[in-house]
Amino acid sequence: MSKGRILIIEDNEDNFQLVRFLLERDGFEVISAVNGREGVETAIREKPDLILMDLSMPEMDGWTAAQKIKAEPETKAIPLLALTAHTLPGDRMRALEAGCDGYISKPINVEYLIKTVSSSIGKARKQSD
Ligand code: MN
Repeated sequence: MSKGRILIIEDNEDNFQLVRFLLERDGFEVISAVNGREGVETAIREKPDLILMDLSMPEMDGWTAAQKIKAEPETKAIPLLALTAHTLPGDRMRALEAGCDGYISKPINVEYLIKTVSSSIGKARKQSD
């Protein structure tokens, strides 16, 4: 079994490349979307094992996209982690209120990223058994 297929929704190319590199190096498959609107469409079409999502994005921000993904029966069980440079507790609270299951802070702590992604996928697989 693959370690998991992860959808990264991120408008910043450098951030995307970094997270992709770290995940692929650890054996995950990565697919991508560059804004919230495309992210929602890709999530529904591809049914990834986990979604990592930036919050500040053009077209549709991450908070709105999180609400849509969690309102959709086909995608609501997919673990969704906000990828956020927002250091204010209020922004993280908003992400959780929008339906995110947790968040990963930028700058990325590599060990925390891999550990959190792995355990979130593990938990979701156990629940769907
Ligand atoms: Mn952004």
